[in-house]
Amino acid sequence: MPVAGALCHLKILELTDKGDGVGRIDGIPLYVEGALPGEEIEAELTLVKPNYLHGRLQRVLEPSEHRVADFCAHTDCGGCQVRTLAYPAQLEYKHQLVVKALHQQGLQAEVLPVLGMEHPFAWRNKAQFAVRPTGNGPAIGFYRKHSHELVACDDCAVQDPFHETLLARLRQWIASEGVSAYDETQHSGELRHVMTRKGFATGEWMLVLVTRSETLPGEAALLALLADLPLTTVVHNIHPEPGNRVLGATNRVLCGDGVITDRLHDLEFVISPLSFYQVNPRQTDVLYGKALEFAGLTGDETVFDLYCGIGTISLFLAQQAARVVGIELVAEAIADARRNAERNDIHNVEFHIGQAEVVVPELYAAGERADVVVVDPPRKGCDAALLRTLVEMAPQRLVYVSCNPQTLARDLAWLCQHGFALDGVQPVDMFPHTLHVEVVARLRRA
Ligand code: SAH
Repeated sequence: MPVAGALCHLKILELTDKGDGVGRIDGIPLYVEGALPGEEIEAELTLVKPNYLHGRLQRVLEPSEHRVADFCAHTDCGGCQVRTLAYPAQLEYKHQLVVKALHQQGLQAEVLPVLGMEHPFAWRNKAQFAVRPTGNGPAIGFYRKHSHELVACDDCAVQDPFHETLLARLRQWIASEGVSAYDETQHSGELRHVMTRKGFATGEWMLVLVTRSETLPGEAALLALLADLPLTTVVHNIHPEPGNRVLGATNRVLCGDGVITDRLHDLEFVISPLSFYQVNPRQTDVLYGKALEFAGLTGDETVFDLYCGIGTISLFLAQQAARVVGIELVAEAIADARRNAERNDIHNVEFHIGQAEVVVPELYAAGERADVVVVDPPRKGCDAALLRTLVEMAPQRLVYVSCNPQTLARDLAWLCQHGFALDGVQPVDMFPHTLHVEVVARLRRA
């Protein structure tokens, strides 16, 4: 039996869905972060259990043909787990993640090749930096993997380079005004998070500063320091509760309108701080294009857009359908959605606030029917009560947009056992260098 601390030589056989390389020592799987399939490596054993082992990569003896130079100077935030895998191999890996998830649920549908990016860098339009106390004063950065320590990542390769300037100014403000960092163990101190969002098509920037209490220390000094930066709006968000959630419920607008706008194709969207908006706008175009194609609208249909956020998909659907009903849990997002419909002069759409699994059964009981349904749930997938109602309602087509292949496969398998047939699966790479993959699937009434 191997012991912790021992050095092992092994060949890596595959990449797990957590992005770790896995090989075998005496038949026992050994998981090694950073090791790639096909590689001969040396690893130090860090954990020994009867059925599995963990190791730390010491040396790559024989590199994979798909290994590329590490583009990250920080390496510790845990964000870009597969960045040393060449981009085409990342897309192949994500394709396999989707194929495996579907197979595990007994689904045999063909999975189309993953639609990737031409230039998979600086793709994020949103950043969330934590602020925590250190011996040298407040630190701003991303959490180190598996910990609540911070890594300074001002020049993150998947974020916009503007953060280097912005964070330098914020550190200046923190130092000159003696702003304290939030201490999550004591629930004391002030500044908790810094969030930014950019409209890629408009160039508009939103800055949100999250504090524990209602006053923002050194507010006037802060606004003076930021005055020459291209910020469209600055918002103070108040988050008095303990816990990991980034944003609190209350916003105070410090400058601008408290929102930014962005454009996707021919439509404009207003986005407020608490609303969801896809983080990779270039690929959002690709994703929504596929969702729309899969919806196969002729202009006569009533369409439900469930989990609709600020109404982005709803408004694209509305241009090709008779009527669209959008449903979303977050009230601020629905307020944005209604503004967005007005702004784009689209009037065949209505929005409801609430849980899809509550509102859809109510609408169905009241006699509403959809010809086509689009769902885009969070990672946990659709609630069973919603799926049951969709099966009863039996729309002609159902388009499922998912950020989690496991829950997607679970829900698709159930729908296929209850009167639907799966006839299209298109993954889209919304999150280059990470383990995440977005999928659009099409079901038709069997
Ligand atoms: N389709 C939108 C949003 C997708 S993200 C877009 O492309 O931008 C998922 C959305 O579901 C989020 O806006 C979240 O607030 C919302 N949500 C989460 N649980 C929900 C539920 N049970 N019912 C309705 N909406 C929900």
